[in-house]
Amino acid sequence: MRSVSVPNPNRMTLLVLRDAGRPVKQVQVSKPLVVAVPLLALLSISGLIISLQVHSDHTVSRLESQLKQQTLAFEAVVTNKDEAIQRLQNEVIALSSQSKDMMDRMERVAELEAELQKFIDKYGDGDAKNLGKLSSLSWDESLDSLGDSGVGGEFIAVHENEIEALAADTRDNFAAMNDMLDEMEKNVPLTLKKAKQTQYSLSGTPSEWPTLSTRLTSNFGYRTDPFTGRAAFHAGIDIAGKVGDSVYAAAAGKVITAKRDGSHGKYIVIEHPGGLQSWYMHLSDIDVSVGDEVKKGESIGNLGNTGRSTGPHLHFEIVKGGKAIDPLPYLK
Ligand SMILES: [Zn+2]
Repeated sequence: MRSVSVPNPNRMTLLVLRDAGRPVKQVQVSKPLVVAVPLLALLSISGLIISLQVHSDHTVSRLESQLKQQTLAFEAVVTNKDEAIQRLQNEVIALSSQSKDMMDRMERVAELEAELQKFIDKYGDGDAKNLGKLSSLSWDESLDSLGDSGVGGEFIAVHENEIEALAADTRDNFAAMNDMLDEMEKNVPLTLKKAKQTQYSLSGTPSEWPTLSTRLTSNFGYRTDPFTGRAAFHAGIDIAGKVGDSVYAAAAGKVITAKRDGSHGKYIVIEHPGGLQSWYMHLSDIDVSVGDEVKKGESIGNLGNTGRSTGPHLHFEIVKGGKAIDPLPYLK
């Protein structure tokens, strides 16, 4: 296509050359239109390109900003998570160490309890053997291996899956400790009671009232002798009672006399660890032999009316360094 100049300055003639043999076609167009059409096309393409450019710039910057925000948020989450894991690790380690300490302490208590138990079995009443034995209790030893990783100054990181295992072990150990504590709460008071009873029964200081009856018919000191009617020294106390009533040892000790004579009737003398002696006279029966070790409160014979006696009663004496002393201050 080419343009040809014509007399009208505002018009242009376009000659369209076609195949050989075909006539040339002539088209008259106005000049401004020839300039305007390509210009418009150029402008609209440029506008499109600019608009696309602006749009893509905007999208990219928006994506960049979103990405930046997401990265920040992700970093914050990661930081929080790391902190949480660290805190959790520290807590679990502290918990596990605490539970190990508790275990050790309870083991020591259980050992003490077992010792106490042995002591009671040896010296105490027979029924003390019925007490439960804490020493037979056992628990999961897995904490010991965990403990090894925490000592010695070497740091070994605890991984997340290990934390769960650690927590599970700790829960198991706390459950075992609760069971032990339950057992202790049940047994220790009983054991202590038995220990106190044992201590009491082993005490060599007279304190146990020697009969069921507490009716005194004669005090320690000077009195009118029931046989002669004359003033005489009464070296003990007389306690009225029924023939056959049990007579109890006032303290733990060794039987040094168990026999009968005309004046004392059937009588028993017990020597106590502190050096005191207790005398039990006018008995109907003697249930111990010389050399026997007796406990405080143990039945040693029966109240009677043998020897120089005007009726069923127990004549009870306490002798210190070969001299009779008033028994009443000793008896409860
Ligand atoms: Zn008397």
